[in-house]
Amino acid sequence: MIDNEKYQRIMARDNYTCMRCGKTGIGLELAHRVKRGKGTAETLVKYFRQAYQKELSKKECEDIIDDDDNLVVACSGSCNSSYNIFFRPIEAVELIEKIGIKKGIISWGENGKIS
Ligand SMILES: [Zn+2]
Repeated sequence: MIDNEKYQRIMARDNYTCMRCGKTGIGLELAHRVKRGKGTAETLVKYFRQAYQKELSKKECEDIIDDDDNLVVACSGSCNSSYNIFFRPIEAVELIEKIGIKKGIISWGENGKIS
C-alpha cells in the first residue's frame, strides 16, 4: 500500500522530478516498475514457491510490489509506461530478488546462490 508518507518519501527521494524526462511540477506520479496489475501478486507467490520453495502470502507479495525500490517518480503516460519491466524478465527478477533479500525473505547462501 502506498500511503501519503510513502508517496512523499519517494517524491522527495527522486527530487519531485520525472526520472525519465526530467520534468518537474504537476502531473507527476509514482510508477511501479513491476506493475501492480491484476495477477502480479499471484505471479510472485508462484515465483517464490518455484524458485526458492518459499511460501509467501499475497499480502507479502503486494508489499514487495509497493516497496520503495519498485517505485519511481514519472510523468503519467509514456514516461510511467517506460518504467514497466514486467515484460523484461531478467530485470524484473533481479529487482524482485533485491527486494526479497532486503526484506529478509531470501538470502545469499554460502554456495553463492540465493535461497
Ligand atoms: Zn516524464
